[in-house]
Amino acid sequence: MIRVSVLGALGKMGATTCNAISGDPELELVAALDVDDALDDMLEEGAEVCVDFTRPDAVKGHVLWLLAHGVHAVVGTTGLGPADLREIEAATGPANAIVAPNFAIGAVLLMELCRLVAPHMPHAEIIEQHHDQKLDAPSGTALRTAALISEARGRDAPQPCGPAGHPARGYVEQDVAVHSVRLPGLVAHQEVVFGGLGQTLTIRHDSTDRSSFMPGVLLAVKGVADRPGLTVGLDHLLF
Ligand code: NAP
Repeated sequence: MIRVSVLGALGKMGATTCNAISGDPELELVAALDVDDALDDMLEEGAEVCVDFTRPDAVKGHVLWLLAHGVHAVVGTTGLGPADLREIEAATGPANAIVAPNFAIGAVLLMELCRLVAPHMPHAEIIEQHHDQKLDAPSGTALRTAALISEARGRDAPQPCGPAGHPARGYVEQDVAVHSVRLPGLVAHQEVVFGGLGQTLTIRHDSTDRSSFMPGVLLAVKGVADRPGLTVGLDHLLF
């Protein structure tokens, strides 16, 4: 049995994660903590792995604390930038970290497909749609997708078309325009539209329920002890 704690246990993702861990015969939920609880509580319960689904402004502090206390970290909270990830990587040692902007297998496959398409159709735009409570924009998944597209299409990547800097053309990440939609009723959705001569190709993924993230979270919880250092992206555990 792997002894697991959850940070952000009262939140939408944290609560779903607590249920998924409790229902898995290989895992034991030893601490379900939220904003008013002390992190030390999980040490008293002997947590070996901690899953973080909290807030962009809290997550880095949590991960550095976990690593300093020898607890492996599985991080779903978005908002960690490249400098944060370097700091986290440097703090790994006896304890490891997996950071995944999206734990849904369909979203991971969407990113893999983008990597395949981008060298052939380098013009691309991302439309991501999330529920109205989401704190960050663009989503971590959109930023990661833009980075993968940018890397895959190489140095001669086209600039986004149209008037540069116009708000209606979206947020530009690594020369990929990203459009963020926030509405009640949505969960997590992303469409990537590639444009070529006389044709477009659209790849779309929809998480219609938070259960979509749970197989990926459980895979990361079970795998984190065997992956030294920092792993960014669930793709490393799947392919
Ligand atoms: P949420 O419903 O707002 O839940 C966050 C929970 O964390 C809340 O209960 C919040 O308490 C608590 N919290 C805030 N600060 C804390 C702290 N310092 N220590 C402990 N708990 C704290 O948000 P959510 O929809 O579950 O999303 C959480 C994060 O996961 C977001 O960054 C979201 O983008 C990300 N996410 C990732 C994936 C993925 O696959 N990687 C999928 C979905 C969502 P209060 O409400 O009192 O602040």
